Amino acid sequence: MSLIVHKYGGTSMGSVERIQNVARRVAKWHAAGHQVVVVPSAMSGETNRLIGLAKEIQPQPDGRELDMLASTGEQASSALLAMALLAQGVAARSYTGWQVPVRTDSAYTKARIESIDDERLRAELDLGRVVIVTGFQGIDDLGNITTLGRGGSDTSAVAVAAALQADECLIYTDVDGVYTTDPRVVPEARRMSVVSFEEMLEMASLGSKVLQIRSVEFAGKYRVPVRVLSSLTDPMMPLEEEMTSGTLITFEEDQKMEAAVVSGIAFSRDEAKITLLAVPDTPGVAYSILGPVAAANIDVDMIVQNQSVRGTTDFSFTVNRNDFVRALDLLKDNVAQAVGAAEVVADDKVCKVSIVGIGMRSHVGVASLMFRTLSEEGINIQMISTSEIKTSVVISDKYMELAVRALHKAFGLDQDKSAA
Ligand code: ASP
Ligand code: MG
Repeated sequence: MSLIVHKYGGTSMGSVERIQNVARRVAKWHAAGHQVVVVPSAMSGETNRLIGLAKEIQPQPDGRELDMLASTGEQASSALLAMALLAQGVAARSYTGWQVPVRTDSAYTKARIESIDDERLRAELDLGRVVIVTGFQGIDDLGNITTLGRGGSDTSAVAVAAALQADECLIYTDVDGVYTTDPRVVPEARRMSVVSFEEMLEMASLGSKVLQIRSVEFAGKYRVPVRVLSSLTDPMMPLEEEMTSGTLITFEEDQKMEAAVVSGIAFSRDEAKITLLAVPDTPGVAYSILGPVAAANIDVDMIVQNQSVRGTTDFSFTVNRNDFVRALDLLKDNVAQAVGAAEVVADDKVCKVSIVGIGMRSHVGVASLMFRTLSEEGINIQMISTSEIKTSVVISDKYMELAVRALHKAFGLDQDKSAA
C-alpha cells in the first residue's frame, strides 16, 4: 500500500463529466489498495471569472477580499469531486485549506505555505476514505483566507505530499509530461520519461509552464517525488501502465536513463534589455543603477558589464517585458544622470533562449556548440549568461523560433521518426 497525492488541473476538472472521470481514476487507485489524497484546481475558467467580477467592482481589488472570493473556485470543485466519488460508492470527504489547516503567511494573492497539519488527513485515510483538499488556498495566523498565486494548486499538492510523506505526488494535467521543448515550436520535441529536479527548476523558471515554479522548489526542498502525467487518458487504463507514464522528476542523477548532455531547450519571450552607455567605471555604480530598480520591485535577470575603456563602461541588464516601461522611465528620469551615463538605449524586442542539462557539468564545449549553431543561422547574440547546468543567450525575438529549432536539432533532441 502506498500513500499517493493526485493533483488535477482546471481542464481536468472542467465539467461534470470530467469530474466523474477523475472520480473513476481515483476510485481505481483506491480499489487497488492505495491511500489517496486529491488536490483539485477550480473548474477551468472559474478563477478568471471570479477575478473578473472583482475587477468590475474594484479595479485594484482588495487583497483579502480577492482571496476570500478566488478560493471559492476550489471549494466548489472539491465538493463536486467528493460527490462524484460518493456516487460511485467510494467513501470520500473534502476539506478546505482552513479546515486542514494549511497555514500560510499573510501575503494575499501570493501567500507562502508555512505548515500543514496532517492529523485530520491521516485520521480520514485511516478510516479508508479518499481525502480531497482544496488546492490554491490556506489560512494565515489571524484566520484570514489566503491564496498561493496563480497556478498555486501545484504547490498545494506538493506541500500536502510533503506533509504526509507521500510516496509520490502525481500531477495530472492536459499534457502528457514534460517535453524537451515546447512542441508548438518544435514538433519533433520528445517527452522526457525522467528529468532531474534541478533541470526542471531551470526549465520552469525559464518559461516552460507545466508546473508552478514554487511547487518545484517545494519538491526539491522536501524531496517529494513528482510525476507529471495526462488526465486525458482512459481513466480505467491499467494502473501499472499509468504508474510509469508521463515524466518523473527525480533526485537520482543516475536514474536518468537518457544521458543527454543537454536535456532541453527553454525560452522566454517576456524579456526586455536596457543599456546605460559610457558609465564611469567607479565603485558603487552597479548599486546606483540597480538599487533604485530593486527598490521599485522590478526583478533584474541577466546583467552584463564590460571591461572599461578609458574609465567608462557599458552596463546592460534585462527585466521582464511587463516592467520594461517602468524600469526605463525610472532610469531616464532619475538614475542615468546621477551615475553620469552618456545615454540609455533599450530594446523590448528581445527574447532569451537557454540550453539546460545536468550533463553540462561534466562536458566541455557545450556552450560553443550553442554559439556555433546560432552563428550558422546568422543569429546575433546580444548577451550571454551561464550557470553550472545552463547557458542562456539574449537574441532578437524575431529569431526565437529559429534558434530553438536549430538548437533542439544540434543537441540531438529531435525525435527519431524512423525509429518510432
Ligand atoms: N485556480 C487557480 C488558478 O487558476 C489555482 C490553480 O489552478 O492552480 O490559478
Ligand atoms: Mg495549472
